[in-house]
Amino acid sequence: MQIKDRLYVGGQWVVPAATGTLPVVSPSTEERIATIPEGTREDVDRAVRAARSAFDGWSTTPPAKRAEFLQKIHDGLKARQDEIARDIATEVGMPLKMASRIQATLPILSFGLYAKLAAEFAFEERVGNSLVMREAVGVVAAITPWNYPLHQIAAKVGAALAAGCTVVLKPSEVAPLNAFILAEIVHDAGLPAGVFNLVTGLGPVVGEALASHLEVDMVSFTGSTRAGKRVAELAGGAIKRVSLELGGKSASVVLDDADLAVAIRSTLGSCFLNSGQTCNALTRLLVPESRRDEATTIATDGASAFTLGDPLTDAGRIGPLVSSAQRERVRDYIRQGAHEGADLLVGGAEAPAGLTKGWYVQPTVFGNVKPSMTIAQEEIFGPVLAIIPYESEQDAIRIANGTVYGLAAAVWSGDEARAQRVAKRLRAGQVDVNGGQFNINAPFGGFKQSGRGRELGRYGLEEFLEFRSLQLKPAG
Ligand code: NAD
Repeated sequence: MQIKDRLYVGGQWVVPAATGTLPVVSPSTEERIATIPEGTREDVDRAVRAARSAFDGWSTTPPAKRAEFLQKIHDGLKARQDEIARDIATEVGMPLKMASRIQATLPILSFGLYAKLAAEFAFEERVGNSLVMREAVGVVAAITPWNYPLHQIAAKVGAALAAGCTVVLKPSEVAPLNAFILAEIVHDAGLPAGVFNLVTGLGPVVGEALASHLEVDMVSFTGSTRAGKRVAELAGGAIKRVSLELGGKSASVVLDDADLAVAIRSTLGSCFLNSGQTCNALTRLLVPESRRDEATTIATDGASAFTLGDPLTDAGRIGPLVSSAQRERVRDYIRQGAHEGADLLVGGAEAPAGLTKGWYVQPTVFGNVKPSMTIAQEEIFGPVLAIIPYESEQDAIRIANGTVYGLAAAVWSGDEARAQRVAKRLRAGQVDVNGGQFNINAPFGGFKQSGRGRELGRYGLEEFLEFRSLQLKPAG
């Protein structure tokens, strides 16, 4: 068992202000694998002060020099990639091979990207008689979730540090161990004291203390819409900048001329990835009424082929859900779907056969789902797909746009121009057209209650910048 009993503040591993601890539990064995400090308001205050003291120095460090530090963090992550993959497979429950490919690789790419951008970005431009400067916004509080824990941290911390901001990170208490690894890497990279700080603890304590702290200039939050609303409320009191990456209920719109097998197999892969605990998962499959039976058969066969098993031995294609609370929530949604009259085609709320330990949920598919049903409206965050038949293209667009969310979507058609035309009518931050892949250089974020602001690429860097314009007297 790992005992983490220090926080990283002001360039040192420090003893927390109080003695409380939080357990970290393996979702596959249900055993405690670590304890971490339960940080307090005092710890937050200390970390924010350290970040504030470091701000002037870091924000005026030449961007090329900041890039060198980011490159060192990139190299440090790369050197510990296997350890990070194993750690995240253990605390989140994603199968190891996939954790290595996604969870441990994306943070390396992000730090590499922000090292490059810090060196290349035009932080100044002349506009008429003005010098327009892009300046670091200040001290940033980064509050992150557990599902892609280090990716979400890297997207914020990499961009914020590249911009010249200093950071206090509060990772998810559910999967925090990877954040300790990052802090060690940051320390070894020799970042100036206070530029990066780590305070672990609970959202309502550490998260709220950060969101309301007067010396925090910006809160960058990823998590549930519920907690995001609270953070925005607290931060709004002091007119702090807030960026929010929240939930989703993303639609995969299969048009009547699409290759159904390709579209549905890909949608299932997205929906069940990380046991459905993916914010941009395609969880609604919209199929033309005329091809409903064909779609149902493909989805049923495809979902039945998904195996469950121990993430550390790659025994299944998907692992357990992250916690027993999360499993109960998902099972409740499955019961609700059946109760509201959707057809349960595959899976169900019962524990999967043969797995006596671990918070596993059967990959589940509902057919004949009405757009107004709870399972078609609310984010489930589990391996549950809702197949929704539609009558016309207009109808499909209306249904796809008919939730409070707008994070992601997909469109499938045999006619690329038609697919793009429909994609442009979807109110979502990223729309995959005919299987187009995730792109770390493109902006990531949501419309509507999926959030505000964008991460990744240069758009992610710009989130952490403030404008200043100097009006200059003409020469001579
Ligand atoms: P969560 O909202 O419970 O927790 C996220 C973070 O916020 C954690 O660090 C938590 O401790 C903290 N927190 C909780 N309550 C808080 C409060 N009152 N004040 C301040 N901080 C608080 O979410 P989760 O269960 O960790 O993650 C799952 C959710 O995150 C899902 O809804 C998912 O869609 C969303 N998510 C969104 C994205 C995205 O980019 N849009 C990415 C990943 C996850």
